[in-house]
Amino acid sequence: TGGRGSGNYRFFTPEMHEQARARLTLESALRRALERRELELHYQPRLDVATLQVVGMEALLRWNHPQLGSVPPATFIPLAEDTGLINAMGAWVLRQACRQNQLWVQTLGRPLKVSVNLSPRQLHDPQLVADVQLALREAGMAPALLELELTESSLMQDPQAAALTLQRLKALGLELSVDDFGTGHSSLSYLWRFPVDVLKLDRTFLPRLTSSVECGQAGKLAPAIVHLAHTLNLRVVAEGVETREVFDFLRDAGCDEVQGYFFCKPVRPAEFERYLRSGMAA
Ligand code: C2E
Ligand code: CA
Ligand code: CA
Ligand code: CA
Repeated sequence: TGGRGSGNYRFFTPEMHEQARARLTLESALRRALERRELELHYQPRLDVATLQVVGMEALLRWNHPQLGSVPPATFIPLAEDTGLINAMGAWVLRQACRQNQLWVQTLGRPLKVSVNLSPRQLHDPQLVADVQLALREAGMAPALLELELTESSLMQDPQAAALTLQRLKALGLELSVDDFGTGHSSLSYLWRFPVDVLKLDRTFLPRLTSSVECGQAGKLAPAIVHLAHTLNLRVVAEGVETREVFDFLRDAGCDEVQGYFFCKPVRPAEFERYLRSGMAA
């Protein structure tokens, strides 16, 4: 094997060339996606464990490409993040989600909370606080009805800067949650350091219940995490709830809210509205 310098061209295989081209094509398509209105938000309900009432929903971004069809967020969010497009896209998501939530709050006549995902790059965007303020003001929405979901890794990237931004966001009156809790490898101490309100328990902490009620290690951790969170005055939302058994387990573990396919998958606004109405009728 040769030195570093001699290796470069040899590692750039035809497959990599294809990949790079595909990426560039996707990137320019993504750039146009916003102005061509190919992006839309789907909503997944969040239910109160005790009452099973819908108390809010998570906004999840979808990209309908005219040729490629539906491009999953796992593909285009990282690309948007790398290229910086996420900042403009994120600002659009905030405005759209707040506007939609305010409409539902008015038609239902009761408060509903909308939660919006923030990527690491958005958290470190100096425009973020202004974008959030604009979205709230434009929608005429009570700030307390907006929740922003942050991941552990974006908080740990630059903890001091993150803490400052979080304080400015909290000053607007909104709520903050830690998404995918438990998937990172950071210490729990950051929960004390950041002004967060909600912990979203990742699916990896849900027991893989079959017919027999057998939890495994991860399942044993869930009640302990809930207890810890409650000690810190945090609410716990379990995501990815797919079965009745897992829901029962989470209720017993003391979770406050649940979200998952068992109740409803992320859906278009019209379908979400039907879900809301059917829930009220029940
Ligand atoms: P996430 O924030 O952890 O969102 C939850 C994901 O789990 C969603 O995938 C949702 O459709 C899926 N899910 C919900 N219930 C269940 C269930 O019962 N079982 C299983 N297996 N999955 C369930 P989705 O919509 O494909 O989004 C993937 C990720 O893309 C999100 O993960 C989030 O990190 C990111 N994302 C989505 N929308 C946005 C956005 O507007 N902004 C940013 N920055 N990221 C977003
Ligand atoms: Ca999320
Ligand atoms: Ca999550
Ligand atoms: Ca995630």
